[in-house]
Amino acid sequence: MSEAASGSYVSGCLFCRIVSGEVPGEVLMRTEEVVAFRDINPQAPLHALVVPVRHIPDAASVAPGDADVLAGMLIAARQVAEDSGLASGGYRLVMNIGQDAGNTVDHLHLHVLAGRRLAWPPG
Ligand code: 5GP
Ligand code: ZN
Repeated sequence: MSEAASGSYVSGCLFCRIVSGEVPGEVLMRTEEVVAFRDINPQAPLHALVVPVRHIPDAASVAPGDADVLAGMLIAARQVAEDSGLASGGYRLVMNIGQDAGNTVDHLHLHVLAGRRLAWPPG
């Protein structure tokens, strides 16, 4: 694990544990700052989660110093979508914040959904 990762590792956090490899995940890509892996309960033919290596609780906790990490997450999302071969029809990026949005894991994650027509507004 890199120093950046170990410096912010939260032992009770599922996604910190996937990033570190303690909990298995189907990793699609990894950089120094972000990891993308398949969602365990996919809602579309491609459903990946892009997370920062460094523990950030959610999108509402992002600070100006996190700008590079956020850009890295968007670039990783595009790469994952393009690599899947499902990006040509478009894809959706989602970050849930709090209970009403359905957030269940308190480690920032960007959902990448592609491969089917997605309804709008969301349920
Ligand atoms: P949220 O509801 O917080 O926006 O998204 C959390 C996502 O994490 C859900 O889509 C859920 O299916 C996924 N998830 C929960 N536990 C695991 C796990 O152990 N492994 C993986 N790969 N995804 C998980
Ligand atoms: Zn974490």
